[in-house]
Amino acid sequence: MEIRNLMEDAVKAVVDELFELEAKDQRLGYCLCDQCRLDVACYVLNRIKPEYIVSSRGLAYSEKEGLDKVQRRADVISLVKEGWAKVTHAPRATADHGASGGKPESLDGPSFNFPTIMGRAFDGRTFAPIVEGSVRLLESGSEVGMVDKNWQNPFVLASGTAGTYIFWPKPVRAGRAGERRNWTFEIRVEAPGFDPASHFIELGCESESAARRDFSLQHVHKIPDLYLFPEGQGEEDE
Ligand SMILES: [Zn+2]
Repeated sequence: MEIRNLMEDAVKAVVDELFELEAKDQRLGYCLCDQCRLDVACYVLNRIKPEYIVSSRGLAYSEKEGLDKVQRRADVISLVKEGWAKVTHAPRATADHGASGGKPESLDGPSFNFPTIMGRAFDGRTFAPIVEGSVRLLESGSEVGMVDKNWQNPFVLASGTAGTYIFWPKPVRAGRAGERRNWTFEIRVEAPGFDPASHFIELGCESESAARRDFSLQHVHKIPDLYLFPEGQGEEDE
């Protein structure tokens, strides 16, 4: 059983929609980078009432159901604009707010497209976010290449990110569309004064006819929260 917030999909859809519109005419003059897109979605989600469902039942709901009322959609749109103006004008120091979306230049043919991989790291004693440290995405011990230079691996945790990290692995060439392959990735969090924490994920991927270039909040793979404990106090089974 899994608990999901219906508003999450609904808000992501509205944010994606508005970013795509803005990308066409740049009417608002707001930043279109992927980091700002995530920041805007978080800004809105932190300001509206969540609607939780059990996800096995939730399959019967459509994404729109969370935004069934027109008024609600209007509220979300105005919150998106408010948040977007804020993040545009107070950009993170670490992101360079470069081109929007990934541009995997070297790939034109059939490709395995990865979701963005997102999670949070906390101090296991206080449940406070880890604000100093780094997170690496590894495959067989090596750092996985990112889609473009706006995406970092290792990802540096800083006070502005509230323990959140995110990766977007570069697409991998496939022989044809429709192939299936599995990847095993390791997420490794290291922070001063803490024992490192690792988490392994299996990602099944089906190749598509081209490399995906547009960042969308709809393609996010969420990692369960990771907890770090002070050095040498790992009382557990390892
Ligand atoms: Zn930006």
